[in-house]
Amino acid sequence: MSLHGHIIPPGATLGVLGGGQLGRMFAMAARRLGYRIHIFCPEADSPAAPVADRTFVAPYEDLEQVEAFARSVDVVTFEFENVPSATSEACARVVPVRPEGRVLHITQQRLREKTFLQAHGFPVTPFRAIHSLADLQSATRDLGLPGVLKTASFGYDGKGQRTLRSASEISEAFTGLGGAEGIYEAFVDFAQEVSVVGARTLDGQFAAFPVFENVHANHILDVTVCPARIPAAVETAARDLSRGILETLEVIGLLTVELFVSRDGRLIVNELAPRTHNSGHLTLDACITCQFEQQVRAVCGLPLGSTELKSPAAMANLLGDVWKDGPPRWERALSNPRLKLHLYGKTSARPGRKMGHITATAETPEAAITAVRQARSSL
Ligand code: AMP
Repeated sequence: MSLHGHIIPPGATLGVLGGGQLGRMFAMAARRLGYRIHIFCPEADSPAAPVADRTFVAPYEDLEQVEAFARSVDVVTFEFENVPSATSEACARVVPVRPEGRVLHITQQRLREKTFLQAHGFPVTPFRAIHSLADLQSATRDLGLPGVLKTASFGYDGKGQRTLRSASEISEAFTGLGGAEGIYEAFVDFAQEVSVVGARTLDGQFAAFPVFENVHANHILDVTVCPARIPAAVETAARDLSRGILETLEVIGLLTVELFVSRDGRLIVNELAPRTHNSGHLTLDACITCQFEQQVRAVCGLPLGSTELKSPAAMANLLGDVWKDGPPRWERALSNPRLKLHLYGKTSARPGRKMGHITATAETPEAAITAVRQARSSL
């Protein structure tokens, strides 16, 4: 079978489920390569719409519209994984969906995801499914306290998540699940959080970006730096884990592995995302190929691009909170000529909402972190 037959060449139309900033930056990368972009999302004023050739605005459950969308494109990919299985299945009846709905199904539910990882020998923190108060009581006895109780589905940026420190919190925390299925995880006393964005093509090419080191604030990613300040052996092990997971899941496209690094240098997988990732935004300014172009290449069957880091870099998220005292003073941040500003075109700046990010390249990771923190506080 000739490889050429699998290629979706520039000029073709790529479909994206989801219209957030990841879809926007994917569309921009795809356009640069000469592709057309159609997006499908429930919101009329999504960040991706202004840079897409066409937007289908409908609920994900509207399978007639989903099918019309699928008929208008040559391949479908994602920027948001919490779309119903029926949506990706409806697309898959018409065009290739990359990664496949099967990957989405596993990664959109924490219990399925951790069960899959554990079954294939990938390291995860011990966990239990929570359906009742009795389940939570026995889970905290078995796995100990502290521990983290999360909703099994639809959680992100710490939503639907709570750390339990004493037995007196158990009953209230269970009530907090509001009847949703939960997962209780043994607490990981990590030294660092890192992530690996990996890409894989239909013919088995694989490429991982250098490991990103992530710092969170209020459960939301705050700053990413690359290279991660971890030993070379841990860097290699993290990239090998990424490869193992993408190959086991037979991902065609991108998948991000979020990891904890324990104090003794062990890696523990926290979460998978079958797409580009906030921690990979610095690749736009610091790598030969950015994560969005890599997603285009992977889903279109093109050779993967070099993931080489051109310079140490750091990225800081700009949340809606930055707007609280009025319009940010962009000129102050940009007075550092190595600083890059990315805004997602969102009009309402709610606290905690991801509005944009800034990236700085510098001589060292530490200098890059200092640069983005200074630039952000000058706004
Ligand atoms: P998640 O929504 O699973 O990505 O979790 C958000 C953040 O909560 C992570 O980035 C960690 O900082 C923290 N966290 C999640 N799970 C655990 C755990 N089992 N032990 C310690 N911290 C955790």
